[in-house]
Amino acid sequence: MNKMNFNTALIHAGIPNDESTGAVNIPIYQSSTFRRQELYVSQQWEYSRSGNPTRAALESLIADLEGGSHGLAFASGLSALTAVLSLLKQGDKVLLLGSTYGGTFRLVDRYFQPLGIGYRVSYAQDLDELEADFEPDIKALIIESPSNPLLEVTPLRPLAALCHKHGALAIADNTFMTPYLQRPLELGFDIVVHSATKYLGGHSDLLAGLAVVKDEELARRLYFIQNATGAVLSPFDSFLLIRGIRTLGLRMDRHCQNALYLATKLADHKLITRVHYPGLPADPEFAQQREQASQGGGMVSLELDFRVDLRRFFKALKLIALAESLGGVESLICHPESMTHASMPASLRERIGIGSRLIRVSVGIEDKDDLLADLTDALEQASD
Ligand SMILES: *Cc1c(COP(=O)(O)O)cnc(C)c1O
Repeated sequence: MNKMNFNTALIHAGIPNDESTGAVNIPIYQSSTFRRQELYVSQQWEYSRSGNPTRAALESLIADLEGGSHGLAFASGLSALTAVLSLLKQGDKVLLLGSTYGGTFRLVDRYFQPLGIGYRVSYAQDLDELEADFEPDIKALIIESPSNPLLEVTPLRPLAALCHKHGALAIADNTFMTPYLQRPLELGFDIVVHSATKYLGGHSDLLAGLAVVKDEELARRLYFIQNATGAVLSPFDSFLLIRGIRTLGLRMDRHCQNALYLATKLADHKLITRVHYPGLPADPEFAQQREQASQGGGMVSLELDFRVDLRRFFKALKLIALAESLGGVESLICHPESMTHASMPASLRERIGIGSRLIRVSVGIEDKDDLLADLTDALEQASD
């Protein structure tokens, strides 16, 4: 068969069914260990930290979807990032952009730095400025595009080339886009990581992380780290994640439609001073987003007018829950300054523009008019 189109791959890629029984879904191989056929002879399945058939089906599926050769599944997005950063050694540094996910920043700042793997934060506004931040000991760069929570878009293809020119691994955290909308490996990146807790799982019912590479040597080194450190995804969560991924295309289309609708309507609202959404033609990030991703995604950030009382606003919402996380079928809202980005130093938050009036909406797949009404009613109630 020729290479499958993406929506077909969502259903049939990876290891699509069970060879031993013909079950159309890969079973949950809830077993820690596997009987050896013979002494001295190694076999495919031996012990579930080293390999488990349910997890392997997921790993093969995500590799196909991202256009990579190998996938690895971890217990959370941060454990995937921990494994990836463990490719570095003492004295190496990682380059972060100002608007990196708070948990990634904390991992680099407070876990890796004391171990001797340092970092540098870049506030560059363009690639020329960014190039100046590549000190000789920078051995990796982590990028999120669009970024969280300001939804700024970075040109991925030239960025990967820049990394390679300076001998650094180009790592993309593709959580916000998923391979349905954007595939960084095809744009030259070396490693894609996911918090699969978000859109890939899609139902706010699991924590998971994934890493995908296209290079044999990197795959071998990452597999060693996965097995040696052991933060693997359980068979049950691997199954749940495969189940979530099946409907990724349907869900992402609806997330994107709803997000564009809300961004368009709210751009003119008198109590909103700014809308950030890279899928909105008027957004400064729109052109770059269109060049490297197929749609704008499901995240919209809003800056509220000073007349809106924040406490009352969040209390007045009936449908949209105030919660961390994103990417589920239900809409969630958060206040980055005090929630997702609280672990970032205040000076850094200020510098990149995460102020107290900024809120971030993970737009779910509910009816778009119900979502709009929930937001506009709460704005009215919180401002009188
Ligand atoms: C949530 C998130 C992470 C961390 O993933 P966990 O699954 O919570 O460990 C990393 N990067 C981004 C962009 C995220 O949104």
